[in-house]
Amino acid sequence: MASGGVQTRAAKRLRTSENGEKDSGDNPSLAIPVAVPLPIPATREVSHPQWRRDPQYYFEDGNVVILAEITIFRVHKGILSLHSSVFKDMLSLPQPVGAETVDGCPLIRIPDAAFRVQWLLDTMYRGSTTHLLHATPSQRITIQTLYHLSWIGDKYAVSPLVDYVHKYLLVLFHAEKLEQWEPFSRCMIQHAQISSKSNELADLSYTARMIRKWHPRAAHLLPLIFYNYCQLPLNEVAGAPSQLPPEDMQRCLLAIPQLLTRKIEICNVFTTLKTLRTTSCLSRCNSSLCQLSHSVMKRSSMATLPCPLEDLLQWCRQRKHWGNLCSSCTRTIEQEISRLRQKTWNDLGKIFNILEWRTGDVQQT
Ligand SMILES: [Zn+2]
Repeated sequence: MASGGVQTRAAKRLRTSENGEKDSGDNPSLAIPVAVPLPIPATREVSHPQWRRDPQYYFEDGNVVILAEITIFRVHKGILSLHSSVFKDMLSLPQPVGAETVDGCPLIRIPDAAFRVQWLLDTMYRGSTTHLLHATPSQRITIQTLYHLSWIGDKYAVSPLVDYVHKYLLVLFHAEKLEQWEPFSRCMIQHAQISSKSNELADLSYTARMIRKWHPRAAHLLPLIFYNYCQLPLNEVAGAPSQLPPEDMQRCLLAIPQLLTRKIEICNVFTTLKTLRTTSCLSRCNSSLCQLSHSVMKRSSMATLPCPLEDLLQWCRQRKHWGNLCSSCTRTIEQEISRLRQKTWNDLGKIFNILEWRTGDVQQT
């Protein structure tokens, strides 16, 4: 009541002053309430019992506080502005009257998960290689992590984060040449989290989507992603929750017959050779060629999957009939299968209609 009375008097005094009446400056005791009239605070200190300080990123000398979920980060405006144009713009806006503060620092509430804000701050304060390329086997990165790293990096324009994901993708699919190529599942086992069969579809879809959205410079990897996608059983792909973008799904469906044709061409090498030969090995090698041809066709994956890049020679060499072939037949089969496999590799860009596909062997087609 007492303070209300003071305010009323002060307000009256203010109004009086505004009305141009002469202030009673000759009486200091009356002038004091006029100096603190109904102050609207420039900022408003806020807190919540559930909020917790991030153990890594709560610097005593920080000058801005970020709230994500229930975690508060006290960091530095200069660092945020240096690494993120989005934060720079956000911080350059004048603080509205009554703006929230925490520990005296302006508060920014952001709608993202706290662990993603940690990624951003890791990148800004420590350099993202620490949590990406140098990850230990126990902290292996999943494809979904890469997707979300790209997403948050793009959202806050923290380009080093997006760049590091780009580099990681190149490491993951380090396939400039056919000899380096490995099926997707093996890349995952070696470089990222081991994915079960049911995850492969999701991993491939996430990879294609992230390349399309944020990593156009990695578009040359898409034929490899799509090739692996074509190896998945169609009944598994249909109705699965995560999918390729529709136009890329169509690319794959159009490519399957082409891949099958090329695979049949490779499998037919044994039969073609049999009919072409006129040399003295005819009687010696005929039976072995028949057996090998039969084994290749009988092999379930060869019969149903559009997989012309598979290393069929390696598989053949483990069959007992291979050893019975004469050196001339062995060499001819090796050359022909290698040639057709290499041609498929060179043509992956054409098969999937991805112009960015590049290989060191392109000119040899
Ligand atoms: Zn022979």
